[in-house]
Amino acid sequence: MRRSRKLRKEVIFVLIVIAGIFISNITISAYKEISKIKAYQMSVDGKVWFVVQDKLALENIIETYKSSYLKDIKENAEQVVAKFDQDIQITEVRVEKDTLISLEEAQIKITAIEKEATIYTVVSGDSFWAIAKKHDIPLATIINLNPNLDPELIFVGTKIVFEPKDPVLDVVVSFQTTMLEDIPYDTEYIKDASLYSGSRVVVKKGQEGSKEVTYGMSIRNGYVSETIVLKELEKVAPVGSVIRVGTMRTLSKTSNSNFGVVSGQLSSNYGWRNDPISGIRKFHNGLDIASNYGTPIYSYTNGTVSEAGWDNTKGYYVMIQHNGGIKTIYLHMSKVLVSKGQSVKVGQKIGQVGSTGYSTGSHLHFSVMKNGSYLNPWDYL
Ligand SMILES: [Zn+2]
Repeated sequence: MRRSRKLRKEVIFVLIVIAGIFISNITISAYKEISKIKAYQMSVDGKVWFVVQDKLALENIIETYKSSYLKDIKENAEQVVAKFDQDIQITEVRVEKDTLISLEEAQIKITAIEKEATIYTVVSGDSFWAIAKKHDIPLATIINLNPNLDPELIFVGTKIVFEPKDPVLDVVVSFQTTMLEDIPYDTEYIKDASLYSGSRVVVKKGQEGSKEVTYGMSIRNGYVSETIVLKELEKVAPVGSVIRVGTMRTLSKTSNSNFGVVSGQLSSNYGWRNDPISGIRKFHNGLDIASNYGTPIYSYTNGTVSEAGWDNTKGYYVMIQHNGGIKTIYLHMSKVLVSKGQSVKVGQKIGQVGSTGYSTGSHLHFSVMKNGSYLNPWDYL
């Protein structure tokens, strides 16, 4: 009996101890629960990044980082929206105080750079075009990544962005911007057989028009990633130009031994020279092309023979009147093959090289005149 009472006492003691442990456990967990505080957890794409205590300060850090990409956006930009590429969630949680991070740490995580920009430094002989080709990067990409560089003005040492920096949190700013741009004018070309081939006469001057172009732009992490035209509005219509283009074929110099009108070697140029016979310095109004006696001489272009015959100084000579007031003159021939009033075609044989008149050897003297003045034959041959 005594024994059983003692046993009962022991059982009660054990029960009390067990109950005590049980109750203290509840107390600890209750205490732990009480020690937890209200905080805010930032998750990126569903992954928890960190927890801070001050929600407003966290939102402020995120907003400030996002807004830093707005500072270079033009003032006249419209519908400006800055968005993160990633899904950022801030949720209220209860955590123990020691799991919180400071706002400074939070800011470092939010503004972290995953990969720094790839920069190229210009070396001697580089151009945008050559750099793009050498590094296999589209020229448009280089231009987009370096909006402040003038492709015509790069120097040794100029830094060119090849690949933009890649932050951990990507910010895309989209906006619309409207700009006034030129509208180029069209040119109508009219063939004109009264003008030498290669010559052009502006009949009507063209005038660029203008238009308002609205672009939709996307700037990713500070660099243009997309540009699309949303709207175009013509303000001033362009005025087309009209140009007459000569089609009259002429002969021309094809080599140092073929001057079109004759073949041979240049023996005296157009301009001032010492006269080979008198020794007096005087103006030479044409080209002397030394050539074998009897070499054919051809008409510079279509025209009408205005003079053909003999002169003591010119020897046997031909003058041909062409369209546009141009006259060509051929002197010192051995033989004249056309007569005054005859019309001639471009390249038609009109005579042969000789040394008649005031001449020191077998050659063709060729001159070009317009309205009574001598012109530089090189402008025509
Ligand atoms: Zn001459």
